[in-house]
Amino acid sequence: MAYEDLIKYLRCPADRAPLDAFGQAVLVCTRCGNAYPVRDGVPVMLIDEAVQREGAEALKRYKADASAGESDSASE
Ligand SMILES: [Zn+2]
Repeated sequence: MAYEDLIKYLRCPADRAPLDAFGQAVLVCTRCGNAYPVRDGVPVMLIDEAVQREGAEALKRYKADASAGESDSASE
């Protein structure tokens, strides 16, 4: 099963809302905004520190990578 198909079946453990995939690094709840990190292709669907810290950092990294691709060498 493709990763994109797999996440359609995943739900946020906090409120059972669907998840948005940001690349293959992080899943974000469409309702509460919890960010779930993906470790080695395996979503970590636990409501604990991993979501708050790792998930937020994974999302930050993903957005940084995405924007780095658009405007390279803007500031150093
Ligand atoms: Zn949620």
